[in-house]
Amino acid sequence: MNILLIEDEGRVADFVRRGLAAEGWSVDHAANGEDGLELAAQNSYDVVLLDLMLPGIQGQDVCRKLRARKSKMPIMMLTALDEPEEKVEGLKIGADDYLPKPFDFDELVARVEALHRRATGYVTDVSDTIITSGAIAFDRASLEVNVAEKPIELSKKERDLLQLFLTSNGRVLSRERILNTVWGLNADPLTNVVDVYVGRLRRKLGQEGQRIVTLRNVGYRMT
Ligand code: CA
Repeated sequence: MNILLIEDEGRVADFVRRGLAAEGWSVDHAANGEDGLELAAQNSYDVVLLDLMLPGIQGQDVCRKLRARKSKMPIMMLTALDEPEEKVEGLKIGADDYLPKPFDFDELVARVEALHRRATGYVTDVSDTIITSGAIAFDRASLEVNVAEKPIELSKKERDLLQLFLTSNGRVLSRERILNTVWGLNADPLTNVVDVYVGRLRRKLGQEGQRIVTLRNVGYRMT
């Protein structure tokens, strides 16, 4: 996924850029609205992350200009202004989502993914409860998992882990990301629980387990 980040605060920009790069996404950064508009004119981005308080052109105007160009790029506003009127205003001028600072990194990632899914027309509704990938079928309603049409027994964590892999669309998942998503933010970052559970999940999935590839010092990826 290609992301355009328009943010003047170096510290925030570094944090977001490093984190999104660890998700395997590429990030172009503009420190002001003019540069952001220029980059957006030259490239196509899957999601634009737009700060509101910018030097020069304000974020709201960047958003208006992008929409005036008929750009359909999904825009998420990032801002310390979290008054409800600001939010309504942002959505009215064409932003697709709005995330107040300070934000939780996992929430940013989840929202970026949701925006991207919406924009690409991939919508999961309640009737779409079964995720299939290769010979694996995962029913999110009944929580049954079948491999080659045979049910397999998974613990809750193993199921959560499998669901994360199945919805990651082949992206690299860092150990931190897996740990935060499946075990929560309070998990001990030094634990090897991720490796242990990936090993178990691989065995239980049999042949399909081979699709979970280890990337040394990076994390895992389901091919
Ligand atoms: Ca700012």
